[in-house]
Amino acid sequence: MTAASRNLDDHVPRYYDSLDFKALWQQYPPAPEYFRNTYLASAEALRAAKDERFRWQVERCWQIPFYQRHWGAAGLAPGDIRGLADLDKIPVFDVHDLRASIERCPPFGDFIGIDFENGEAIPMVLQTSGGTTGLPRPMIFAPRDREVMNIITGRRLYMQGVRPFDRLQVVLSLGLANGGFLAREGIWKYTGAIPVMTGSGAQTPTRRQLEIMAAWKTNFLVGFPAYLRHMAVVAREELGIDPKTYGMKGLIVHLGTDNRKALEDLWGAPCYDTYGTNEFGSIAAECAEQSGLHLFEDAFELEIRDQETLAPTPVGERGVVVLTSLFKHAAPMIRFNTNDVSAWTPGTCACGSTHARIGGIFGRADNMVKLRGTNVFPEAVGALVSENRATNGEYCCVVERVDDEGRDEMTVHVEASDASVDAAALAKTLSERIKEALGVKMTVRVAPRGELSAMTGLNATSKVKRLIDKRPQN
Ligand SMILES: [Zn+2]
Repeated sequence: MTAASRNLDDHVPRYYDSLDFKALWQQYPPAPEYFRNTYLASAEALRAAKDERFRWQVERCWQIPFYQRHWGAAGLAPGDIRGLADLDKIPVFDVHDLRASIERCPPFGDFIGIDFENGEAIPMVLQTSGGTTGLPRPMIFAPRDREVMNIITGRRLYMQGVRPFDRLQVVLSLGLANGGFLAREGIWKYTGAIPVMTGSGAQTPTRRQLEIMAAWKTNFLVGFPAYLRHMAVVAREELGIDPKTYGMKGLIVHLGTDNRKALEDLWGAPCYDTYGTNEFGSIAAECAEQSGLHLFEDAFELEIRDQETLAPTPVGERGVVVLTSLFKHAAPMIRFNTNDVSAWTPGTCACGSTHARIGGIFGRADNMVKLRGTNVFPEAVGALVSENRATNGEYCCVVERVDDEGRDEMTVHVEASDASVDAAALAKTLSERIKEALGVKMTVRVAPRGELSAMTGLNATSKVKRLIDKRPQN
């Protein structure tokens, strides 16, 4: 962008002029081409392509104040990072650094490498994390960032069986949080399928969602497991309709530790796990084999590291996901500690892809609670809750400090599947199961169906709350 074209009375930056789409599709092939080349590429070819993209990404970072400061403080100078082999020399950062950057340089932080006053004029879009407290964290996307993210959304949906003219009902909230709009862009631009944007239960009440599903014959659901389960229960209990009769082709979710089998049985359709974040878009997704999430290796470098020491974890062992983008222009992310806990999946996938796989997200490291020396993830409690058919799978963990010695207790609130459930017996069984599986005692409280949504926000947001921390903050 030349200074002359900065005259914004005379020049409006246009999305379709801002990218060479054909060149971008060569670099990042959309589906189905992707599955004939990059998806099957040799490890060496992938590594070489990634290395080149990484060097480009590092060069871009040196133009951005956040990285100049963060890397400079670690003693790095331009030229020190010559390729992915040097990745270890680069300090990691996390959400606290992003927040500090926003405070230092409001309103969007100096990790955004676009100077609104004097820099290049390009069309941009803002979305946020799905934060549940305070203001959500903004991220700004340049056309290139967004388009690569859309290509990858298209790839993962193709991988999970989406074909042209399918109708995907997206029950993620539509607004600031990235998930809903990103799904729409990817479906519309790169799958040939039709997005049906009903949004969360706050935007379209659940009964209306089901009416639309039946009338417009939507055949995929894109959402969070808790809400998909809720929809199935409303169909069955309130409308007397077996959810299987809607004829879903697939359920596209962030599954995590949720009960896949229970969700598949409810809807009579396969359920595919996906991992993504606001900053990066879709990062990894399951193929039809459902045997781990394939990383989109041409766009990301993913590390799994020990939460305390940040040493690499062996295959199969849990650690935090540290992510590096290889394609971003507005706000590249190099070694971002997502705090999401995962593990490398061993072996190779029957689909023939050479791309590494991870085993889904077990929980968030910053949601982890230490109870009498044992690390507990609310998500692990949730997995045990959804095993028990006397519950409907809904839960919320509340942690409190019970004495001055710092002893913490966790209470698990669950919902009974229907009015015939013996609450006392269920609480006892579940409490024993939790003690047996996780090694710590928790109190279980059983509530009637629907009662926990005030705590979890199930009907209002797509970021369902599973942990309420009432301990004194210091
Ligand atoms: Zn596979």
